[in-house]
Amino acid sequence: MANETQAPAYRFDTQRVRAGYDPKEHQNAVSPPIYQTTACDFRDAEHAKNLFSFKEAGNLYTRVGNPTVAVPEQRVAALDGASGAIALASGMAAISHTLLNLAEDGGRILTSPYLYGGSADSFKKIYPKLGIRFDYAKNILNPEKLAEEIKPDTKAIFIESISNPSAVLPDVEAIAKVAHDAGIPLVVDNTVATPYLFKPIEHGADIVIYSATKGLNGHGNLIGGLVLESGGFDWRNI
Ligand SMILES: *Cc1c(COP(=O)(O)O)cnc(C)c1O
Repeated sequence: MANETQAPAYRFDTQRVRAGYDPKEHQNAVSPPIYQTTACDFRDAEHAKNLFSFKEAGNLYTRVGNPTVAVPEQRVAALDGASGAIALASGMAAISHTLLNLAEDGGRILTSPYLYGGSADSFKKIYPKLGIRFDYAKNILNPEKLAEEIKPDTKAIFIESISNPSAVLPDVEAIAKVAHDAGIPLVVDNTVATPYLFKPIEHGADIVIYSATKGLNGHGNLIGGLVLESGGFDWRNI
């Protein structure tokens, strides 16, 4: 789990090779080591108690956080100006994680109709089985009318900053304002843009999703996903 991002004192090109990893904390290894361990040991019983009660941040159990996985989490959080990030097994896992957290127990998502095929299919066929319903916004490109499409049980607005494959560009700032006026968060899938081209949090997004499988990785040799959080949304109300 990434709790702290590196101060944005460095430029993008430095952050993309340095952020989230300090060799001094890893035996001065230049390449981040692969911590192939499920659990991490405790200094003493007090340390264990503090980790389990989240009083102290630290490595506990790899499903929750792992020092190797923390590197891409903190790096992408730094690049995007996020408060923190979690890495998951794929972009679709990142979307599932987000939707299940926002709309479990029968919520609605107001979504852009311009979607990646995997999202479009799963919005139609998988999440409705879990009680999550989708409204396909007619006014995603007319944000001044978008508020009319928000229902009492709408839990979030979901858009792609550059849609895949149709390359539609919604006005993220205007849509963020519509969401916030209704007290709900804006989720932006920023996979196509990557933080190199666009940083949704600077334009009002509350959650940013990546498939790290695509341009973020750039080499076509892994599947991964990330969920980033801006730190600016008051989650206590939803
Ligand atoms: C590929 C893609 C995903 C899904 O990511 P996977 O890593 O393949 O699960 C989600 N959103 C967009 C925009 C994508 O292009």
